[in-house]
Amino acid sequence: MTVYAAPGQPGSPATYASRYDNWIGGERVAPVEGGYFENPSPVTGEAFTEVARSTAADIELALDAAHAAAPVWAATSPADRALVLNRVADRIEEHIQELAVAEVWDNGKPIREMLAADLPLTVDHFRYFAGAIRAQEGGISQLDDDTVAYHFHEPLGVVGQIIPWNFPLLMATWKLAPALAAGNTVVLKPAEQTPASIMYLMDLIADLLPPGVVNVVNGFGVEAGKPLAASGRVAKVAFTGETTTGRLIMQYASQHLKPVTLELGGKSPNIFFADVAAATDAFYDKALEGFTMFALNQGEVCTCPSRALVQESIYDRFLGDCLERVRAIRQGNPLDTDTMVGAQASNDQLEKILSYIDIGIQEGAKLLTGGERVDLGGSLSGGYYVAPTVFEGANSMRIFQEEIFGPVVSVAPFHELQDAVRIANDSLYGLGAGVWTRDMNTAYRVGRAVQAGRVWTNCYHAYPAHAAFGGYKNSGIGRENHRMMLDHYQQTKNLLVSYSPNAL
Ligand code: NAD
Repeated sequence: MTVYAAPGQPGSPATYASRYDNWIGGERVAPVEGGYFENPSPVTGEAFTEVARSTAADIELALDAAHAAAPVWAATSPADRALVLNRVADRIEEHIQELAVAEVWDNGKPIREMLAADLPLTVDHFRYFAGAIRAQEGGISQLDDDTVAYHFHEPLGVVGQIIPWNFPLLMATWKLAPALAAGNTVVLKPAEQTPASIMYLMDLIADLLPPGVVNVVNGFGVEAGKPLAASGRVAKVAFTGETTTGRLIMQYASQHLKPVTLELGGKSPNIFFADVAAATDAFYDKALEGFTMFALNQGEVCTCPSRALVQESIYDRFLGDCLERVRAIRQGNPLDTDTMVGAQASNDQLEKILSYIDIGIQEGAKLLTGGERVDLGGSLSGGYYVAPTVFEGANSMRIFQEEIFGPVVSVAPFHELQDAVRIANDSLYGLGAGVWTRDMNTAYRVGRAVQAGRVWTNCYHAYPAHAAFGGYKNSGIGRENHRMMLDHYQQTKNLLVSYSPNAL
């Protein structure tokens, strides 16, 4: 066990900036109107930093910087851009611990996840797009002996990006790496709850990126996010957040006919077939772990497997074993490397989760474990901790239909394959799904029939850079990860050339 950032030690809150401004044109810039707001740490509920309360005026400044940098950045070679992205990855890797602790204070997630998942994935994402842009090729169509159509990839220009608070650095990276690789400059708005690790990163990589290539404007959604999404000076808006906000983003961007990509909410089904109980102990164990994944990152994951569907014939045994696992999840100080579940990211989120737990009880779902706020005592008493919670109920209930975004899973039995698919698809969302079975025929049929952009089979919550990720239905438009992402940040220039010596 290691506990990071003890009082007075490196990484304690006092060692981070007490105030975060904006990052514009390669330097810290105070907000034009001078406003700041308090940003408490979910770990303790106490003051952590002050954050710039930016407005349209700050967005304009950032857009000025991004436009000034755009022609030079667009003209760099893929090899030069790849070099920069690889250097950014190296720099992050060299400072993994400080970045991890900054994000834990800001977001409340356990440090073991930062060190084992968020940051390694962040590093790899920059490296992946460094490679992807060098491997990208255009196309040529030979229309006849004398006529050729050339297809060139061109950057869009200046892009606006708006991200949520659940994976601050990783979500920033999912947006920045492909956009920069493709030759765009960026204005990014982090979530108001979690600017710290992103601003820390900007300081760290200041010498690697030409000024104005990446600009970060902090603040609230309507005050800073809306002017960015509604601006005629961005060529595209990339957004990750709630489905309701995604609808607004689309409206704003439509004023200037700007393309959008949206990564939105989910209510992902995790389907367990009876044969998992007859498989080896190791496989059964893996399936039980798969069930507990709803608590990863305190359930604040867009693909949280928040609906578990278990085949009737193993229902009692499997659920009993799952409950034992859930009760053994170690919740505690997020800075302790033994902690598996930390704090919810904000007081608002804590209240929202507790209200959904009440809704579940009122609508007649059976509370099997958890269902309450946890007081960890001492300096953590004011932190936003919720016990991993399991409900049993029916798919028509609100706790099965609405995104709670907390460590809450709702479980229901199913009879046979078709029932599992029908229940899984009875949702407005279609982001992720899990299928657990040793029968690969079943896995294939269910995987193809479930309406979700990502279906994990005998695994869950893996996010490699080179697998496409994104939503069906109300879970989004477009994809992230994978080199296909470059298409969302580029436009195609077609040169249609006649080499014929003859007159037309
Ligand atoms: P949110 O929609 O409240 O906020 C997301 C971002 O949008 C923040 O930066 C916020 O300031 C900004 N924003 C809010 N209102 C705005 C407005 N009117 N105009 C412009 N910007 C505005 O979402 P959240 O609560 O921060 O994040 C949680 C949500 O994100 C969940 O629904 C989750 O499923 C989703 N999410 C999806 C993915 C994915 O890849 N599909 C990944 C992570 C999170």
